[in-house]
Amino acid sequence: MNYIKRTDFYDIYIEPSRKTVVIRQKWKYNWVVGEEVSNWTYLEKKAWHQKADNVIWQQWGSKFTFWSLVEKALTSNEYLHRKEFNVEFDIQWVTTNQHWTVNVAKIGPYEEVVSRVNYTSKNIYLAHIDTERRIEADINQNTLKHEFGHAIGVPDEYGKKHGNSYNPYHVDDTKALMNIGNELRYRYLRGVKKEINTMIPGVSFASFLN
Ligand SMILES: [Zn+2]
Repeated sequence: MNYIKRTDFYDIYIEPSRKTVVIRQKWKYNWVVGEEVSNWTYLEKKAWHQKADNVIWQQWGSKFTFWSLVEKALTSNEYLHRKEFNVEFDIQWVTTNQHWTVNVAKIGPYEEVVSRVNYTSKNIYLAHIDTERRIEADINQNTLKHEFGHAIGVPDEYGKKHGNSYNPYHVDDTKALMNIGNELRYRYLRGVKKEINTMIPGVSFASFLN
């Protein structure tokens, strides 16, 4: 038996038989074209989605673990007691019922896109090159991987000089993904953990970074 929770930002699947938790986002694409580039072809769109899915699957996936604990009184859920769940992430290309509208701009070498997530309008803005790692000044990260963090509810951690938002707690952790680095941190699953702990009565989950 699988357990499913749909949130505004993603769906959570708990699959006890596979000992897996899947965080799945449905993306509806808006293919934007810059000034000096050709239109997106269908093959390019397909390849871009494939690449984005790979980045999220490989760079976010199989890095976190959830451990389940069952309250003693709830014997019906005992089969879930002290089980280790691998955490997977994936995106699905949809044309309706999306969590996010994802605007991917194909741009020329002199054009720029400010990659970002808008929670109010449920839009993600990306450049086609965001699937690659960006190394620039003191920034060294995969932009898509970073923006996906926002899409599951994690705020920026960098200091004021890098942008408008400011998180005083992790501003010095510059290797962290939601700062200017590329490394995942245990704290990035806090929001997901809160959701998953509402899914099965009597069962609570603790998350770890592998
Ligand atoms: Zn950010």
